[in-house]
Order: sequence, then structure tokens, then C-alpha cells
Amino acid sequence: MNKSPGNALLWFRRDLRLNDNPALSAVLASKTLVPVYILDSDEQDWKGGAASNWWLHHSLKSLDHDLRQRGSQLLLRCGSERETLFKLVKQYNIDTVVWNRRYEPQRIARDKEIKAALQASAVQVASFNAHLINEPWAVATQQGKPYRVFTPYWKSCQGIENSLPPAEQIQKLPSLNLNITSEKLEDLGLLPDVNWYGGLEKNWKTGEYAAHKRLDDCINKVINHYQAKRDYPAQDATSRLSPHLCFGEISPRRVLDKIHNALSRGQLAPDSAAAFSRQLYWREFAYHLLYHFPATAKQPLNEKFKVFPWQKNRNALKHWQRGETGIPIVDAGMRELWQTGWMHNRVRMIVASLLTKNLGIHWLEGARWFWDTLVDADLANNTLGWQWVAG
Ligand code: FAD
Repeated sequence: MNKSPGNALLWFRRDLRLNDNPALSAVLASKTLVPVYILDSDEQDWKGGAASNWWLHHSLKSLDHDLRQRGSQLLLRCGSERETLFKLVKQYNIDTVVWNRRYEPQRIARDKEIKAALQASAVQVASFNAHLINEPWAVATQQGKPYRVFTPYWKSCQGIENSLPPAEQIQKLPSLNLNITSEKLEDLGLLPDVNWYGGLEKNWKTGEYAAHKRLDDCINKVINHYQAKRDYPAQDATSRLSPHLCFGEISPRRVLDKIHNALSRGQLAPDSAAAFSRQLYWREFAYHLLYHFPATAKQPLNEKFKVFPWQKNRNALKHWQRGETGIPIVDAGMRELWQTGWMHNRVRMIVASLLTKNLGIHWLEGARWFWDTLVDADLANNTLGWQWVAG
């Protein structure tokens, strides 16, 4: 950014945190700051699923609470992102708009358009990476091509230095100082009319504080056994950080940083710390693939499966969704998903394998069901998971 902004607008998206938030850091010195979340009415495909919306509702509530504690508040809007941003810019004399990048293909296109339109109206715009360790385009084969296989991708990431500024605790934010009224969180319609989400409430705590607490608890209790136990679904031996990462309540760089610090204090065994850190790069790899092969959210990465004779079997699909296949581990997984919005990675692989390989049902049917029921539903990770299992 070239000059210190007067009135700035911070557009929150999948970065629902105050710390390690580069877009926020860039406008901390502004005279006034308008922090906004827009529930996008233009989103067509892969609109937030029911479980994700539950998470989002509570995460926005936490973010607003955290902002208020620092002298600000979250402005909520529902509508077209572009129109809403332009309205706010005009209404509040905003000279700078910042956000952290998203990487879904449809988002990239829309963000580019919005950026160009704002710049054409003489508004300063800056976007940042807050969601990934490396940008999806930062890693390439020696021939300059994207990777298609994980291990060489991961090895080439090891050479990249990622500097993370020391953890800062943001105490005070620039004032809102404008006569702004927010839409009510309840009016965004993120929670369904029928309360089926008791299981989610029992199993999860949302928000930035909860994300850090979960990570700290994992460092104390889980990660030292990660290498040995993470593949056993009956063990509580993985971090369950996925929804926190998905909504950006914690950054993957901060997760790595805390792991490295615990390792250097001798609190973690090197093999467990390495196994856990490596898993974060699967998430990175998923974003690398989606960025370079944007059609894969709907079409197979492997061309030869384009003509695969998938079966239409509504009945079998319904039994699979309800956890009524008669196969205990599949049914346990699908019912856990319905109850808690989460499923162990190995069980995700098993249920996905049954749907695609045994029942011959298209992987997109499974991907869409996961999209609606997972609290960590993420286009890059979900696409990679389903494409991987379906072959
Ligand atoms: P941990 O084992 O503690 O791993 C730490 C973090 O690393 C995770 O939170 C996650 O961000 C990342 N990670 C771990 N394994 C993977 C993986 N295989 N692929 C990508 N990232 C990984 N993950 C999602 O976040 N959202 C999804 O929508 C999703 N859909 C999936 C669908 C299928 C069919 C499959 C097989 C996997 C899917 N995964 C998805 C990946 C994985 O199952 C979850 O990330 C993991 O189970 C989350 O639990 P955890 O946080 O305890 O993971």
C-alpha cells in the first residue's frame, strides 16, 4: 500500500480472526476502519452447506465479540458483494479496501473484477495471503508446470522459506466512528428453522480463541501420538482443526509455527511433529490442484474417467447418506457425520470408496453430500479427497 489510508474497509471472508491477519495489519493505522462480512447472494454453485452455515453463524458472532472488545464491531450485510462494497465505499468515503485472498475458481474471477472496478474508481485495493502457507502458484516443477503428485510437491515446498511475523495481540482497532448499523446476524438465515444441530453444539467451539485453544490442547495431548495413532478412527488422535482452518479462525502458518516452537522446546517428538506438519501440506496441495485445474471441482483430473459409466441408484445413495448400508464402519461414519459434522479421514476414505467403487455412484453425489454435512466443507480439500478415492 502506497500511503496510510484515511477510511479503510476490511472485507472479511475465510479469515475470521484478528491475529495473523495481513489485510487487517495493513490498515491498522487508518483513521477509521469498517470491518465487513458480506453473505453473498450471487453465489450460485457450492453455496454454503447447512453444517458450514451453522459454523459460520457462530464464527461471525465470535468475531464481532472480539472486534467489540477492541473498540470496533462487525458490519454484516447480505447481498451482491460488488454492489455492497461500492455502496459502502461511497457512503463512508472509503479510500482503501483490503481483503485476504480466496482461491476457488469462481471467487478468483469475481475478486479480479471487483478489484479492477474499485481501482477504476480511484480506491486503493490490496489483497493478501492469509489462508495458505504458500500461494498455489508459488510451487512448480522444474519445467514450470504444476505438480499432480503429492510427495514431489511436498518436497519442493520444503525449500521455501516462510517468514511469519511474531504473534501479536491486537489490543485496539481504529474506530468505526461512523454512524453504521449492521444487519442482524439472525437475519442472515444461516441457522435452519428446525434445530437439528444439537450434536454440532455439543461437539464444537467456534472462533479464534477456540481454534488456538484446540491447537494448544493438541500440542499437549494429541500430536505426540499422531504418527502412531492417527490412522485409527476409534482413537481421538487427530487435531480436529479442519473447520477452524477452513474458516480462517487460525492460519496454517501459525499452526506450523506453534508446532516448530513446541518441537524446539522438546515438547514434541520430531517424527510426530513432522507427520502432523506434512498433513498440512495435503491441504496446500489441494489448493495447488484446484488453482491449476479449476475444472476438477466437477470433472475428473484423470481424463479417462470423463466417460466412466456411473450408476444412478437413488435408493442406494439414500441408504449411504443415512448410514443404513449394513456395513458397520460405513454406517458409524455416516451417522457421526450427521451428528457432529465431522468424520475421521480414514472413514471418509472408506465411505467414499464404498459409494464410488462398490455402488458405482458418481463421486459428485458424495462430494455434494459432504458439502452439506461437513463443518469443514472446503472446495479444495473435498475435491481432492473425492477425486483421490474415486481414482
Ligand atoms: P489432522 O489429521 O489433524 O490434520 C491436520 C490438518 O491437515 C487438517 O485439519 C486439514 O486441514 C489438513 N489435512 C489433513 N489431512 C488432509 C487431507 N487428506 N487432505 C487435505 N487436507 C488434510 N478436509 C477438509 O478440510 N474439508 C473437506 O471438505 C474434506 N473433504 C474430504 C473428503 C474426502 C472424501 C476425504 C477422503 C477427505 C476429505 N478431507 C477434507 C481431508 C481430511 O479428511 C480432513 O482434513 C481431516 O480428516 C480433518 O481432520 P483433522 O483436522 O483432525 O485432521
